[in-house]
Amino acid sequence: MYRTHTCGELRLADAGKTVTLAGWVQRSRAMGGLTFVDLRDRYGITQLSFNAERDKALCDQANALGREYVVEATGTVKERESKNKNIPTGEVELIITALKVLNSAKTPPFTIEEETDGGDDLRMKYRYLDLRRANVRKNFELRHRMAIETRNYLSAQHFLEVETPVLIKSTPEGARDFVVPSRMNNGEFYALPQSPQTFKQLLMVAGFDRYFQIVKCFRDEDLRADRQPEFTQIDCEMAFVEQEDILRMFEGLAKHLFQSVLGKEFTAPFPRMTFVEAMRNYGCDKPDLRFGMRFQELNDLAKDRGFKVFDEAELVVGINAEGCANWSRKQTDALIDFVKRPQIGATGIVFVKWTEEGLKSTVDKFYSPEQLQQWAERCGMKQGDLLCIMAGKADRTRKQLNELRLHLGDLCNLRDPWTFTPLWVVDFPLLEQDEESGRWHAMHHPFTAPKPEDAQKLFDQKDLGSVRANAYDLVINGTEIGGGSIRIHERAMQEAMFRVLGFSDEDARYKFGFLMDAFEFGAPPHGGAAFGFDRWVSLFGGRSDIREFIAFPKNNAGRDTMIDAPSRIDAEQLKELGLATKG
Ligand code: ASP
Repeated sequence: MYRTHTCGELRLADAGKTVTLAGWVQRSRAMGGLTFVDLRDRYGITQLSFNAERDKALCDQANALGREYVVEATGTVKERESKNKNIPTGEVELIITALKVLNSAKTPPFTIEEETDGGDDLRMKYRYLDLRRANVRKNFELRHRMAIETRNYLSAQHFLEVETPVLIKSTPEGARDFVVPSRMNNGEFYALPQSPQTFKQLLMVAGFDRYFQIVKCFRDEDLRADRQPEFTQIDCEMAFVEQEDILRMFEGLAKHLFQSVLGKEFTAPFPRMTFVEAMRNYGCDKPDLRFGMRFQELNDLAKDRGFKVFDEAELVVGINAEGCANWSRKQTDALIDFVKRPQIGATGIVFVKWTEEGLKSTVDKFYSPEQLQQWAERCGMKQGDLLCIMAGKADRTRKQLNELRLHLGDLCNLRDPWTFTPLWVVDFPLLEQDEESGRWHAMHHPFTAPKPEDAQKLFDQKDLGSVRANAYDLVINGTEIGGGSIRIHERAMQEAMFRVLGFSDEDARYKFGFLMDAFEFGAPPHGGAAFGFDRWVSLFGGRSDIREFIAFPKNNAGRDTMIDAPSRIDAEQLKELGLATKG
């Protein structure tokens, strides 16, 4: 037996017991004839104590231990003279009588402590060492708890967890597929699922009624801090439901997770906002409602007064930054530089400050104090506030003002990670049009149904931009946590949808014939949703980088630097697969 207890377990009440611990050497300190070793395992740290007077050989052995050596130590639990109040085992130490090195360790490439000197690349290359750090490990305890609570909730609601295949045919969800060549069928490829979408719909046809799966999904797209090529979703589907049933069910899941994992109680229903309202009032479909700065349109008050920038703009729109009137010129210039960056591409900002001397703007030449007063009233300004106004083409200006709003939220510390503001965004358009090609794309995915009152437009291929869907997103703190829709469950409608998306009937049948065939065998009305599990965990962990919550993540170039993947395969393997690589 390697151990009788863990390194996080011993307390004052255990004094006098003889115990054996096993773990890693966090650090050791030799002071005069005394040596103290901090022994670490997943559960905590316990101090081992050696005394040269008592046992010189044992003490020498302890002094020879390096960081991260794996040892087994037996001794007696004793009350410590100088107690460490910061750790639960800090009142005791172990007076060691026997020590065995189970394995030695090279000096680690970075310090394995909360504050490490290892940069991101090094940490990922030696991720197994990084994961030994207590603060990193905590993220996985959180992840585990959230998975358990998700299962508890859904299981209690009669959802069945069903595994769906990973080698499939492509399911378009807006990204590229990862493909897997088939050895037994040369020249043919599987695709890794972007989501189990079609399978969960088939499970509804099968009568499973309520399905869920905590499942890996794969999307070959450009990476960002909150995206990984393989990621995990809580994927769900329900039969005989309307949008309202689904929102109620998953609002329940969210409330259960808030309550059971974070101890946060949400009693009121989550607010709802239509897609159109979100775009109009916040310039994005996932508004962060931890703070205000709602957009206020000023066209009627600001145009046609001789100020060319506003006169020529399709939209003049402002946000009120409360308490920022005392910002210096340097600070407001920095805001202008921020919106002028190529990623945002705005031309500038007009400011109105309300100081003790009254309202003062950067366009005073064109507007009277009374006119500025009207702007201030519309935007809910008080003395001490700073109004930021942007103008231009409507959609673009809203997007730019959204960036400025979020930036101001950061600068004013209004985005506290421990304040949570959940929101449902509903009534998404079914389709969006590519400006250049004029082609229609499914906003959510091609299996989403139009609202019944808009359905005919799909068959007529008329006024497609105005077709709305029973599609919804759950947004928390400006992050899209998940989304879903009511699905098409009739062949004719699905065929019409594929036509609108530019599929020939033959192509649609080749790719999705299996689903449309199934619809002809008694498909019930159904709908569902999927939630980004990594993202949700990172939100509950108070961090935005999902990599911290994935045990072995990929870097921004899609590489796993620890195992060095992707990598070449040998000529023999290529041949078997009927493949050749160029260069
Ligand atoms: N399959 C969708 C997604 O992965 C979610 C859904 O519609 O249920 O985003």
